[in-house]
Amino acid sequence: MFDDDPAFRETIASVLVPVAVPRPYTYRVPPGVSVTPGTIVRVPLGPREVLGAVWDGEPDAAINPKKLKAISHVYERARPLDADLRRFVDWVANWTLAPPGMVLRMVLRSEEALEDEPPVAGVRKVGDRLPERLTPARKRVLETMEDGLAWTKSGLAHAAGVSPSVVDGLVDQQVLEIVSMPAAPPPPLPQVDFATVNLTPSQTTAAEGLVASFDKGSAVSLIDGVTGSGKTEVYFEAIAEAIRRERQVLVLLPEIALTEQFLRRFEKRFGVYPSEWHSEITPKNRARVWRGVASGDVRVVIGARSALFLPFCDLGLIVVDEEHDGAFKQDDRVPYSARDMAVVRGHLSKFPVILASATPSVESRVNADLGRYTRYELPERATGADMPELKAIDMRHEGPDKGRWIAPELLEAMKETFAEGSQTLLFLNRRGYAPLTLCRTCGHRFQCPHCSSWLVEHRFQGRLVCHHCGHFEKVPPSCPSCSAADSLVACGPGVERIAEEVEDRFPQARTLILSSDLPGGPERLRREMKIVEEGGADIVIGTQLVAKGHNFPKMKVVGVIDADLGLAHGDPRAAEKTFQLLAQVTGRAGRVTGGGRGFLQTYSPDHPVLRALMSQDRDAFYAAEIEARRAAGLPPFGRLAAIVVSGADRHLTEGLARDLARAAHPDPAVTVLGPAEAALAMVRGRFRFRLLLMAPRQYDLQGYIRSWLAQGPRPVKGMRVQVDIDPQHFL
Ligand code: ADP
Ligand code: ZN
Repeated sequence: MFDDDPAFRETIASVLVPVAVPRPYTYRVPPGVSVTPGTIVRVPLGPREVLGAVWDGEPDAAINPKKLKAISHVYERARPLDADLRRFVDWVANWTLAPPGMVLRMVLRSEEALEDEPPVAGVRKVGDRLPERLTPARKRVLETMEDGLAWTKSGLAHAAGVSPSVVDGLVDQQVLEIVSMPAAPPPPLPQVDFATVNLTPSQTTAAEGLVASFDKGSAVSLIDGVTGSGKTEVYFEAIAEAIRRERQVLVLLPEIALTEQFLRRFEKRFGVYPSEWHSEITPKNRARVWRGVASGDVRVVIGARSALFLPFCDLGLIVVDEEHDGAFKQDDRVPYSARDMAVVRGHLSKFPVILASATPSVESRVNADLGRYTRYELPERATGADMPELKAIDMRHEGPDKGRWIAPELLEAMKETFAEGSQTLLFLNRRGYAPLTLCRTCGHRFQCPHCSSWLVEHRFQGRLVCHHCGHFEKVPPSCPSCSAADSLVACGPGVERIAEEVEDRFPQARTLILSSDLPGGPERLRREMKIVEEGGADIVIGTQLVAKGHNFPKMKVVGVIDADLGLAHGDPRAAEKTFQLLAQVTGRAGRVTGGGRGFLQTYSPDHPVLRALMSQDRDAFYAAEIEARRAAGLPPFGRLAAIVVSGADRHLTEGLARDLARAAHPDPAVTVLGPAEAALAMVRGRFRFRLLLMAPRQYDLQGYIRSWLAQGPRPVKGMRVQVDIDPQHFL
């Protein structure tokens, strides 16, 4: 009966809440409160209160208004989420099959950001009053305050070189008064012409193309340039153009250990540091960046994948550097690819997106071949340095003695490099000391009690660690199974074991392990990256962390301890990923000076991936890989989706996975494989079964899965069904 009364309709609203529900809920809008789509609010939800955003779509007017709960708070100081961002949230939810509220949750990550930053207390001089006794310290304080501006107490004490109690004393005597100061001034604006470089001809072509793409709406460009070809300088020109047009810029990087070097480079080019966004920034800075992008005070953000969900008010460019990197894929909660969703965000808001890589994903190469993306090739290093010379070391015939891991030829190259004062990088994608520990008496192997994976020995910490759930135990003095003492042996190498061998061979060299799990966290990593960059280490032993985009000017030799690692996976992208990783890591050699050398230790030197690498023929590799994918109907020629069923009870979980598979609608276009026990059959005590779906490129796989899951058997008792559209990781 209220349906036709517009006054009534205004008093209810759709609100999307950050929980796993399929659609917005309807709430009452209290009298005197006004909201529009995008307004950020707090609402009661069951026994608690949650953040939410007023959402598009008609609220449900059929519900008895007496039963509706009311919006409890409106964040008046927060800018409403704009229509583009709301559409983006809906789009991502629709694509990934995640509940839209879970996508919104990635936007509303900082509650602190929804209010103004509280002002901080400062002090200011009161006229020309002087203290009773003008000590030298007090005099310095007053001189520092000559300009009459307000200072924070600690800032003032620091600048005047006095203890804070001196400042307090002056406040007590009413020579200084307490005032309230705005918390932080907006960050300074980047200067487009602060320090430009002379681009090479191929860089110039690419840069001009990128600048022109700003007039084409949602153009996507791929900068495909060998390691050290100056891709960063090229997209800096696009960033400069966005700044000239007064648009905001987002640069996504796969690894926060990379940000430090990037921030410094950005500063060298634009005179200011950009804002950072990743898991390591403090809540206060997180809130500042969030507010700053919403208000427009922050012009450039450099961040991890989650920065894609920041509420930019006028985003005009996204750059995805190292676009091939698997770290852009989030696997849990909302499984999404930040690279692909960046392209979507650009498309929805009609601005250019730039993907850059020395080893683009096959998907992006194909998109370029089909004319969907514009590809700019940079075939040579910008500094004129030649590409590293690569050599495969056949471990069957040219390997080291038993118990050693570095082949004689690689050792020789390391010696020469050390003698001339250059650096060597040894790469092994295995953290810890040894990937497997067993008892030589009874054969007992150490396995994680919660996961189907071996425990990895970390000798520095004296622990056996699970790399999937973090479980650890002390290395026991005797075998827990047969009690034999001193019977445990380490099998295979991890970076710590390689370091041991290096220290033994090169006692005078400064060695450094770069691995994400060493104590000290990202802070330490950043410091160590800088040490390497500045030549403060001779031999670096690193995991895949070092393969990503770093510029180490003195690095001359790169040795890959196990080039076969990764080739054997049941992963359709195994060849591509191995090619990318090896090309990237060997690409660290001789970037600036040239004369770099790369050694790949392998038991299968004739493997096509290794042959392609050796011949430095990237195009041949891509051509072969693209053909293989086309023939097999694999991405990007076909579509994949994974469904992982997990639960604490193995039998029930497997049963549900089987029931699901049986309930799949027969459709000649869709192949349903499995269920099969996942490669990681148990993680954190949960058993896992996988189904894999394959369909042609144009097929609406999401629609198929949606109706299948809606009608199929439902998970019970803590079991979970997780859909992963376009899976990247097949564990
Ligand atoms: P990429 O991102 O392709 O790996 P970078 O942009 O990091 O390459 O450039 C590699 C090195 O070459 C850096 O030291 C960079 O300063 C330098 N460089 C890039 N472009 C030029 C140029 N036009 N002239 C001189 N040096 C350049
Ligand atoms: Zn575990």
